[in-house]
Amino acid sequence: MKKYNPITADILTELKLIVGEKHCFSDEEKLANYANDETPDSKYACLPEAVVLPATTEQISRVVKLANRANFPVVPRGAGTGLACGAVPVGGGVVLSLERFDQIIEVNATAMYMTVQAGVRTDEVQKAAKAVGLFYAGDPCSGDSCFIGGNIATNAGGNRAVKYGTTRHQVYEFEVVMPLGEIVRLGSRLNKNTTGYCLEQLVMGSEGTLGIITQATLKLKPLPAQVIDVLAVFTDVDSAIAIVGLMLRAGLTPTCVEFMDNAAVQSVERFLQERLPHSEHGHYMIIQLEADNEQDLENKTATLDELCSENGAIAVLVADSQKIWKARKAFTEATRLESAVQSFEDIVVPVDRIPEAVAVSNRIANKYGLAIRMVSHAGDGNIHLTLFRGELPEDEWDQRLTGFENELYEIIYRLGGRLSGEHGIGYKRKDLMQKFTDPVELDMMRRIKLALDPNLILNPGKIFDVE
Ligand SMILES: Cc1cc2nc3c(=O)[nH]c(=O)nc-3n(C[C@H](O)[C@H](O)[C@H](O)COP(=O)(O)OP(=O)(O)OC[C@H]3O[C@@H](n4cnc5c(N)ncnc54)[C@H](O)[C@@H]3O)c2cc1C
Repeated sequence: MKKYNPITADILTELKLIVGEKHCFSDEEKLANYANDETPDSKYACLPEAVVLPATTEQISRVVKLANRANFPVVPRGAGTGLACGAVPVGGGVVLSLERFDQIIEVNATAMYMTVQAGVRTDEVQKAAKAVGLFYAGDPCSGDSCFIGGNIATNAGGNRAVKYGTTRHQVYEFEVVMPLGEIVRLGSRLNKNTTGYCLEQLVMGSEGTLGIITQATLKLKPLPAQVIDVLAVFTDVDSAIAIVGLMLRAGLTPTCVEFMDNAAVQSVERFLQERLPHSEHGHYMIIQLEADNEQDLENKTATLDELCSENGAIAVLVADSQKIWKARKAFTEATRLESAVQSFEDIVVPVDRIPEAVAVSNRIANKYGLAIRMVSHAGDGNIHLTLFRGELPEDEWDQRLTGFENELYEIIYRLGGRLSGEHGIGYKRKDLMQKFTDPVELDMMRRIKLALDPNLILNPGKIFDVE
């Protein structure tokens, strides 16, 4: 990585002048809160040299301009719920937290949009939309803690992406501070636009390496008239997963299709201390359907029931929505109790290749003697594997995990898949990115980074190395 200058007392003074004395600190105790994200392995933690909490876009721009002049890295941070070490300051420097950007600026129910600052929590966006009879479709499982700016920076997915797309599909436009400190609005409140390069789509999903998002205008939708959550329970994984293709071909257009393997179901049951149906041997498919009216909902539910039953489901139940989503969303916390150190994989494959991806993941985990739990945004071909270090010594764990990942991703790429469906590359997957990405594609990314951030100030050491 490029050599940066340390944050000197003079730089600290300048930072304090920009954001205010109270909103810039460098004492170790406070810095520790900004040393990691939710990646469950403390080996990735890295203390920043200072943290700034700006309150305006102009302040961010001035911090970034100072960083270019004084040669120190700036790492944008939302709520720190990321799972790829994207907000971890691996090159030192300054963490720039968006936590004071917490205002909802405008909710326009007539034109169906909402403008919010980047540090507004995702569930606050959902609630504000609901309060005016509308609906924000972005729905990561971390919605009660992550920020909308973090969602845009990672192109977060979540439960409803199968019908509504990922975060990049929910955004009209946003304001962003570019790596040299310029402030620009990218995108527009238009439904079509072929006016030059689509720069907003380049910055969305760039994990804080191409710009700092400060506010965004989001698309809202009418609330669905009817919604039902169905729990279909299967005793074999292949039959459960096969439901995805059957539903899509039957034109059911589900809103959510979430898979939990039996080990995941049992793990959540132990954590919540609540009995879950058929937990002794059931794999879950949680399917949400929306409809225009009661009759439409009845027809869709009957079709789903038929498809699941014909395909071997041992139970097809109308789920208690609150209970079933609580169970699904508790997965990450539940597995933490089983092993403090874990590796999350975020595989994505074409939807028709999920059965092979699931089988191969299980087979290779078995080969390396690694305990595994699996949940999946199955409607998107996105599989989350949680691998446990358990009692393994660190070097043994590292060796087995490396063997597992290299073998697995060879096959995943052959299936047409990629390293990450929604969590991003960050720091954690950088080596795998280098190994599995087409060198021409990687070189294009490097040249874009260098063109926009010639001094390599913004979030260095993430996604790929430039030098
Ligand atoms: C329990 C749990 C469940 C989760 N479920 C999902 C899920 O269903 N779907 C999903 O996609 N993810 C999920 N995640 C991962 C995580 O919540 C998302 O990646 C989320 O979008 C991160 O938002 P954040 O505000 O916490 O960002 P952070 O973790 O703070 O940052 C993430 C990345 O974005 C950059 N960044 C943050 N804010 C900005 C900004 N304003 N401008 C520029 N760059 C910025 C950072 O530099 C970093 O690279 C889950 C995580 C947990 C712990």
